[in-house]
This record gives sequence, C-alpha cells and structure tokens, in this order.
Amino acid sequence: MHKIVFATNNQHKLTEVKALLGDKFDLVGLDDIGCTEEIPETADTLEGNALIKARYVADRYGLDCFADDTGLEVPALNNAPGVYSARYAGPQKSADDNVAKLLRELNGLHNRKAHFRTVIALIIEGKEHLFEGVVDGYITKERHGSEGFGYDPVFLPDGKDKTFAEMLLTEKNTISHRARAVSKLVNFLNKLQ
Ligand code: IMP
Repeated sequence: MHKIVFATNNQHKLTEVKALLGDKFDLVGLDDIGCTEEIPETADTLEGNALIKARYVADRYGLDCFADDTGLEVPALNNAPGVYSARYAGPQKSADDNVAKLLRELNGLHNRKAHFRTVIALIIEGKEHLFEGVVDGYITKERHGSEGFGYDPVFLPDGKDKTFAEMLLTEKNTISHRARAVSKLVNFLNKLQ
C-alpha cells in the first residue's frame, strides 16, 4: 500500500480523511511516524504554511505527505485575520477572545462579508500540488450556537439561515471550506495509478 502522511496531530481530521480515501493508501499522522517536534508555521500566507509543513515531512522522513492550513478572511479588514486566525487576539489562541476582537473590528462597518479558506499542500513522487476550498458568508453581529469551534458562532454561510455553530458537523461538512479542499485532494489521489 502507498504510505502517505497527513502532517497533523489532530486525530479527528485524520479519521475524516481516512474515511474518504480509497484502500490504495495507508494514511498516517505525525504521531505514527514519530514526528513529535513542533513544525514552525512562519509563512505569511496559508499556501506558505501548508507547504512548510508538507516539505518538512517530505524532506526529513522521505515520505509522501500533505498538510493543511485554514484562515478566516474578511475583505473589509484587508483579509485579516487570515493566516493569523488562531492567534488573532494573542498567543493564548483563545477562540472567545478572537471572536470578540473580530466583532470589535467590524463594529460600525457595513461590509461584513467573509470567507473561510483552506489550502492543502501535497507532495507526492517529488512534485508539489495545491488544493483550495472556500465557503463564502457573513459575520453576524452576535454569537449564535454552540457547535463547532473557532469563529463558527459568528459565521453565517451564504444561502443559510444559521451559523456554522448552529449546524451539526454533518451539515457543516456538506459546504465547509475544509470539506471542499479535502474532496479535491481525495479526487486527485484516488485517480493516481
Ligand atoms: P487550522 O489551520 O485548521 O488549524 O485553523 C486555523 C484557525 O482558523 C483555527 O484556530 C480557527 O481559529 C480558524 N478555523 C479554521 N477552521 C475553522 C472552522 O471550520 N470554523 C471556525 N474557525 C475555523
């Protein structure tokens, strides 16, 4: 079987992708290859960070690998928080503080459009490939719902009447940025000879 690493320690993400990949691939995470060091995410774009992580594993372990990076981009704020989404309000990486800061920054602005964007960088047989998934929507004025994580309570996807935090994961997964990027990756991998 073709071994491929998903450069993540998040078991939930790993299980999700495993369920979608055909049985041609043996999908493993960072723990499984004994990679316990923190991979630095020092780029200023989602593409850059996803590539750093994928190259780190490909170079050091000689294995095919993919890595993801996600951000919330708000055009009225020059696409902030973007690549800094996790630490928007500071290094404590608190979702509550991040949402509070976002609502503060948007206070009084009319344009509340936003989108989540996921980039996946894949290195396979020595070649690099990028896959992108986007979901468009709006930032609400108040929090709604308790499902999900991060900015979900204030993200209202286009065409829906509830935020991501008011949806069950199964419903969020039919339209989410991450699901769309993963589906492009999986299509690509499943077509390989
Ligand atoms: P990561 O690249 O998947 O770790 O995502 C980086 C940050 O973006 C997270 O810490 C969250 O703040 C935010 N984020 C990513 N995906 C989502 C989502 O599906 N809902 C809400 N926030 C998200």
